[in-house]
Amino acid sequence: MYIDMHTHIFPDALARRAIENLERIADEGSGREGSLKACTDGTYNGLIDSMKRCGIDASLILPVMTKPSQFDTVNRYAAEINGKNGIYSFGGMHPDCENVEEKLDFIKSLGLKGIKLHPDYQRCAVDDERYLKIVRHCLKLGLYVTFHAGYDIGYPEPMYCRPDVFRSAYMSLLQEFEEEKHPHIILAHLGGVTTAEKTMKYLCGLPIYLDLAFTFGVMREEDIAEIIRLHGAQKILFASDSPWSDQGRSRVGLEALPISAEEKELISHKNAEKILGVVHSVCEAAR
Ligand SMILES: [Zn+2]
Repeated sequence: MYIDMHTHIFPDALARRAIENLERIADEGSGREGSLKACTDGTYNGLIDSMKRCGIDASLILPVMTKPSQFDTVNRYAAEINGKNGIYSFGGMHPDCENVEEKLDFIKSLGLKGIKLHPDYQRCAVDDERYLKIVRHCLKLGLYVTFHAGYDIGYPEPMYCRPDVFRSAYMSLLQEFEEEKHPHIILAHLGGVTTAEKTMKYLCGLPIYLDLAFTFGVMREEDIAEIIRLHGAQKILFASDSPWSDQGRSRVGLEALPISAEEKELISHKNAEKILGVVHSVCEAAR
């Protein structure tokens, strides 16, 4: 049973252009041609095909809003696809949106379980007051928040979400909302694919989830395993970052890690089921 907690899709009419654009931004950012290649065509059906091919039972879509004006379209679409065909979606939010608290209440009312924030694409540092206000209200509502964290191939400098900066900015909020009982913040990419030591030093042990998106084949396997050991498998989420990394490759990467079968169970789906509020054993039995 595999639930992929970090995937992206684009509307059918825009998918091709969006993929080409993001590949070009990555090439420019990294100074390397062909630095990032999509593994699907970026559409909803492309993701469904990938799940079938790779044996992934469910996928969570994380919409990245690059403009405040996208709020309604993004969140209505998220609500429309959420919970059908093994697809779940978080909502989208932008730090420049007005009335963020009202908007988060609306996302909650749509039945979405969380939101995605992307400090690099939204040009907003993780410790910015605007993000802190959004996260505070999410924690109040019990909404989850996934932050992109660390290096992004499209925007290598500056890094808008660094492990040490996250820690000092969010520590008091984590304590205030007693997050050690039930974490609601998810940092993607194990806190940053190029900064494993900083994750070990500043993030491991905090009451937050870390996802595995875009880590397999990018980070050293021993660093991935060490972060899991230090942080605890009950706070690690299986994730690919599809289409930017292949779901099958990520699955094989997790299977190959030198950790216990119980830890793999937690990471591959049990932690995700808690977040999404679903139990997938029914689908498994129906196979
Ligand atoms: Zn991503």
